[in-house]
Amino acid sequence: MKIVMLGAPGAGKGTQAKMIAAEFGIPHISTGDIFRANIKEGTELGKKASEYMERGLLVPDELTLQLIMDRFTKDDCANGYVLDGFPRTIAQAEALTESLKKAGEALDYAIDVDVPDSAIVKRMGGRRACLSCGGTYHVTFNPPKKEGICDLCGGKLSIRKDDEPETVQKRLDVYHAQTQPLIDYYSEQGILRTVDGTQEVGEVFQSIQEILNA
Ligand code: AMP
Repeated sequence: MKIVMLGAPGAGKGTQAKMIAAEFGIPHISTGDIFRANIKEGTELGKKASEYMERGLLVPDELTLQLIMDRFTKDDCANGYVLDGFPRTIAQAEALTESLKKAGEALDYAIDVDVPDSAIVKRMGGRRACLSCGGTYHVTFNPPKKEGICDLCGGKLSIRKDDEPETVQKRLDVYHAQTQPLIDYYSEQGILRTVDGTQEVGEVFQSIQEILNA
């Protein structure tokens, strides 16, 4: 099963992608997580990516495509994957379609987790992330057991630079300009499915399961 998650930053697509990955035994591939891991390790790619990420801008397609195409060659992708945060531009989506076509493959679904901007702004202000293991929380909707501490590794939780209020608005603007056109792109391919992302996490997942098990 090959799935693309669509939705604005903060719509909850990462949380849903992790749940899909666990349920269907496929890897969850998040370009944002891969970039953040590279930043933490101080790699060349990380240095280049952070210049864009900290400003709420997209990392250039060339760098992103290089990274994701390499990831697809790993053994764990044999039975598919759930992509979270990729593709984010029409050029990336076309590159993905082409590379799959060459291998005689195609995506199964593009799932749009739909949430209005006003709700996104509210949600993102409460997001906290563990810089050690990448665990994500929300002060209201998904709090850690102990305030400020990661349940998974005991690391300290903080606000990601790109979740700060001024960056959030920039990321939403970038989403509408560059990523939202993918909704039409996948709708034309007949694989777009939309779920109401304002529901509870479990309800959103149930809607997704109904689509994937249909
Ligand atoms: P995310 O964790 O998916 O919200 O991604 C965080 C940041 O990483 C984004 O705001 C972009 O700067 C960068 N990024 C992640 N995925 C992509 C992509 N497919 N294309 C370009 N930039 C990306």
